[in-house]
Amino acid sequence: MRDIHKEEIILKGIPVSGGVALGEAQVLRDPSFQIVRRQIPASQIQEELARLDKAREKAIGELQGDKSKAIKAVGEQAAKVFEAQVMIASDQQFFQAVADRIVAERINAEYAYQEATAATLDRLMKSKDPYLRQMVHDIAAVSDRILSFLLGVGTGGENGFANPTILAGRIFSPGQIMAYAKRNVVGFLTEEGGPTSHMALIIRSLGIPSVMGDFSVGEKLVAGMQLIIDGNSGDVIINPDIETTKNYRRMRARKLTQPFGVLLNARSIAAVCRDGREIALAANLEIPGPVDEHLVRLRIGVGLFRTEFLYFNKQTFPDEEEQYQVYSAIAKKFNPLPVTLRTFDLGGDKYAEEFGKVHEDNPALGWRGIRVSLDATRLFKTQLRAMLRASAEGNVKILLPMVSDVGEINETLELVDKIKRELRRTGIPHNDGIAIGAMIEIPSAAMSADYLAQKVDFLSIGTNDLIQYTMAADRGNFRVAKYYLGHHPAVLQLIHMTVQAGHENGVAVTVCGEMAGAKLMAPFLVGMGVDELSMNPTRLPELAEWISRFRYSDAKRFASRVMRLSTADKVMAALKEAYDYVDKLKQGDWRDEQP
Ligand code: PEP
Ligand code: MG
Repeated sequence: MRDIHKEEIILKGIPVSGGVALGEAQVLRDPSFQIVRRQIPASQIQEELARLDKAREKAIGELQGDKSKAIKAVGEQAAKVFEAQVMIASDQQFFQAVADRIVAERINAEYAYQEATAATLDRLMKSKDPYLRQMVHDIAAVSDRILSFLLGVGTGGENGFANPTILAGRIFSPGQIMAYAKRNVVGFLTEEGGPTSHMALIIRSLGIPSVMGDFSVGEKLVAGMQLIIDGNSGDVIINPDIETTKNYRRMRARKLTQPFGVLLNARSIAAVCRDGREIALAANLEIPGPVDEHLVRLRIGVGLFRTEFLYFNKQTFPDEEEQYQVYSAIAKKFNPLPVTLRTFDLGGDKYAEEFGKVHEDNPALGWRGIRVSLDATRLFKTQLRAMLRASAEGNVKILLPMVSDVGEINETLELVDKIKRELRRTGIPHNDGIAIGAMIEIPSAAMSADYLAQKVDFLSIGTNDLIQYTMAADRGNFRVAKYYLGHHPAVLQLIHMTVQAGHENGVAVTVCGEMAGAKLMAPFLVGMGVDELSMNPTRLPELAEWISRFRYSDAKRFASRVMRLSTADKVMAALKEAYDYVDKLKQGDWRDEQP
């Protein structure tokens, strides 16, 4: 047993997802880092073999449970993945070989098991047969389950952890987050993955508080400790005392701990400047979530639906019918509000562990987004067909991620036309005039925005990536966070070029990166003429209220002044000055002088 100090300690981290949570710490280390080879005495061999058997039985039990649940929830087809995994976990020959090695070498079960699995995965990865390569994901998923039982950090069983849990670790993949969110995990504490990382996006969309920082997870911060994490301030309180705990409970009783609290209680949300200009607002969604019905009630559509999370949820590509079901459900729910479905943006940090073995030296500069889609045409066609079919059910738009050249748009439009012809021939309803947009998140796209705008119906600036590619600073790497500057003149210039190109071609421009939800940037983006801001739903009420405090005409002057500033520091100073100014204003209390 570790010595758990009882003294209250407050650590400062970086807020990643709003809200406050209280729970017991569990530390999840990436098993591949943690497993060491241990020599065991002969007397312990039987015990070790029993441990292996038990872990395997538990995994099979869990998989069978998941399979039945999946059949109920999504049908037989979706449950096939679990069937394959049960077969893998039942492979007698494989487990006999592991057992033989434990006996022969007198080693611990997790080490023997991991070695055998790694060898199998290695062989499959090298295979030319796509079916065998596809099995890699299933084997890895089974291995994760069995190892987690062997290591004693099991998924917590059917009903999850016994107590509300704050899960701490280096970083979590979207798949892990989705799984643990259902298992009584009320907060995430990580050492890596900044506020614009994909991990952060998915945690936020689930409304779970999260903080990132250097907390010596596994050493000073250990399993079993009581924690309060504040995803708004970044505070992490270890061993909270009675008074702190009482305060937390009072906040919780008043719903102040919930990130979605304000949105759920809002009566209407609109971003109308004092001189009448309205900026359209939209929501970024990753999964059908707890706020959808409130967005519909507040007349807010979806500016970005990150469809790759369908993949993360299952770790396999959903077929046309499954995708159609999801897309048409959301289109119907929001109709007539727009629902912007973005095609899969896989690659980069979105492969996380599922594709961990497809090695690219620079994944962010690699095979990602539309590049993957255009190479894997069957996959792309399936997705586009599902989206087109869903367009008959509501106001669906299609958005293409990671575009770097007009040729990619041409190729996609040809494919879309071909699918439309097929649908027409077979009498399948769809919206023939469906709007298709391009994400502007690579400098080359911003610089060719004029050509792109001539081909598409709308542009959407993804600042999360645009910043990382312009500044050469990984969005999830805290070591280079100081270079990841959304307010750098180069980034602002690219936003400016995009808005101008869009408007010259009669095409609306949205900002859908995290910048859209930042109060500090709002006067600049509004003044630049951005038509729509699409953001995490939790940010909507505050942004709308903030924008309603100032005039568009003033924001326009402010933006053109900022565009003449030569350094990020000067821009930051101007943004802060404007922020302080707007901060002092209450609605209906505008003074005419301006910063
Ligand atoms: C972006 O890059 O700003 C964006 C919205 O896309 P994602 O965060 O999914 O990469
Ligand atoms: Mg992006």
